[in-house]
Amino acid sequence: MTVKAYGAHAADKSLEPLDITRRAPGAHDVQIDIAFCGVCHSDLHTVRSEWAGTLYPCVPGHEIVGRVSAVGEHIHGFRVDDLVGVGCMVDSCRHCADCEAGLENYCDTMVGTYNGPTADAPGHTLGGYSQQVVVHEHFVLRIRHAEDQLAAVAPLPLLCAGITTWSPLRHWKAGPGKRVGVVGIGGLGHMGLKLARALGAHVVAFTTSESKRTEATALGAHEVVVSRDRAAMAEHAKSLDLIVNTVAAPHDLDAFLSLLKRDGTMVLVGAPATPHPSPQVFNLIMKRRALAGSMIGGIPETQEMLDFCAEHGIVADIEMIRADEINAAYERMLEGDVKYRFVIDNATLAV
Ligand code: NAP
Ligand code: ZN
Ligand code: ZN
Repeated sequence: MTVKAYGAHAADKSLEPLDITRRAPGAHDVQIDIAFCGVCHSDLHTVRSEWAGTLYPCVPGHEIVGRVSAVGEHIHGFRVDDLVGVGCMVDSCRHCADCEAGLENYCDTMVGTYNGPTADAPGHTLGGYSQQVVVHEHFVLRIRHAEDQLAAVAPLPLLCAGITTWSPLRHWKAGPGKRVGVVGIGGLGHMGLKLARALGAHVVAFTTSESKRTEATALGAHEVVVSRDRAAMAEHAKSLDLIVNTVAAPHDLDAFLSLLKRDGTMVLVGAPATPHPSPQVFNLIMKRRALAGSMIGGIPETQEMLDFCAEHGIVADIEMIRADEINAAYERMLEGDVKYRFVIDNATLAV
């Protein structure tokens, strides 16, 4: 079926309206009419080929929420009209050790929701800046938030921003008695604050934007540090068990590593296009600190995170945009001017 989408034809081109085709649902497929799609900084990195390897046309978008509009003949778990989500993955091998552990995100043949290999035209996956998507049932998530929360604040940025911060918070056991730092208060960071707080940790936000100081507190931070303020940073030396660093640009990692206690870990989830300057090895050696990375999260933990958020009434703070506002939204995202996630109203693709 031909559907309307928004995408780019080259790294140096703006996004524009496109027509794309979606396959008819196979036996195990769920066809979803997309209501909203969150705008992740990874969309921007990919559209502009900042990570290299982008295939065009590129239709980004991996924070998809919508309603089931058709199901394949072997689908029993989903019905037409169910409210569902799709995150960063649409396929994986489903039998390797990673897939069996429910960590499909680390499968060597994981297929991203966009820019991944597929038999469907045009040979690479096309994401959620589109009217419809067809996805294998294994990669379809249930949305259990109340209807009134959906209308007010669509929970869709949970599908990337939520799970990408949830997974390291859980893996490194953020909870009561733990002091957790979140660096970069954008799409990922604002969810990191909410989730770390709800998990019971003491939460410290680190931002370069003075203007986010008050809001970071409202988002869940017990303390807010403007990271350009050296004296304020020094006050937090050797105080944190875990830091989740979401910053989308290269920066001085030592400034944050030195805030970790003995055996503390800083997890990099921000994925800048060019490398960070190497941190000082002594900053790691001296307190047996660890520097780690983490990529999105597996399907079981994504459902766990969605259900936790539904139970605790956690949604993302969003600014709804029309599809034709996407290029301007990218420019604002580059300036850190997002409070805290742009979300495309996919109904505007039709006009
Ligand atoms: P975002 O909304 O643009 O937030 C990034 C935040 O980092 C900014 O709001 C800003 O917060 C801070 N920042 C400080 N200096 C910056 C600079 N020079 N340029 C840009 N940001 C700067 O981005 P996002 O969607 O949260 O994504 C953050 C990063 O995570 C991106 O690199 C994205 O590709 C990556 N990502 C990784 C995964 C994964 O699986 N590991 C998943 C999704 C996204 P302050 O104003 O508070 O300083
Ligand atoms: Zn993302
Ligand atoms: Zn696998």
